[in-house]
Amino acid sequence: MPELPEVETVRRTVSAALLGCRAEGVGVATVKMRLPLDGERWRRLVPGRRLEALDRRGKYLLARFEDTGAVVHLGMSGRLLVAAPGQPVLPHTHLVVHFEGGRELWFVDPRRFGFAVVMPVEGLKAFPPLPELGPDPLTGDVEGALAAAACRQRAPVRSILLDQRVLAGIGNIYACEALFRAGIRPQRSVAELGARRRARLAVAVREVLQDALAAGGTTLADGGFSASDGQAGYFAVQLAVYGREGAPCRRCSRPVRRQALGGRSAYYCPSCQR
Ligand SMILES: [Zn+2]
Repeated sequence: MPELPEVETVRRTVSAALLGCRAEGVGVATVKMRLPLDGERWRRLVPGRRLEALDRRGKYLLARFEDTGAVVHLGMSGRLLVAAPGQPVLPHTHLVVHFEGGRELWFVDPRRFGFAVVMPVEGLKAFPPLPELGPDPLTGDVEGALAAAACRQRAPVRSILLDQRVLAGIGNIYACEALFRAGIRPQRSVAELGARRRARLAVAVREVLQDALAAGGTTLADGGFSASDGQAGYFAVQLAVYGREGAPCRRCSRPVRRQALGGRSAYYCPSCQR
């Protein structure tokens, strides 16, 4: 599932290719997505306008086409791809924005848990749940957010990292990776962590995200998320624990353990994480 580094990589790739370009037309498939894909609105509100900004809040992408705004969420399997003129459209492409000069922006989502919603630009800020999202872990006060959460609740620290109202953009992969790097068990209550361990976790969260972003950025330099290698970047990161149940811990060689926690698997090393 795309998390902050993947969404940020998509944002940078699409921005580099299409910022300042005018949309000329929109093609929309009739499919059921997490929120309705309203072809009539896309065709009425986007063509004729320039893509002036592409921002990110957590895992949400916010596009500004002059007086029109759009919110895109990639869900479980969504991708935004910049396609060259005449490139054959991939299966599961639900939305195509045609830009001047022939380039296209595709929204591809096989599992359709994502969405792409268009509205007058004034509506962007209030679009739920954007107003409730916590700070961005790359630029915001991660330590402060964790300290505030520790005062309010006793939930496992992994659940706190996944709570988008505490920090926006972290999913299960990077939550597990950050906890490994900080040497903290996912099950540990956030309220039990002292200030020093919270500070260590805040550093780990930022490092894990920045490393992943750098890996995505490396892929970017090689040509980016083209239609053929659209998932590159995502797999460039070497994960320490996530998805590695039974495999040797990269630090101590003991087997990585998986445990169901709040409906999502937590991966951790029982000897490196306390
Ligand atoms: Zn270990």
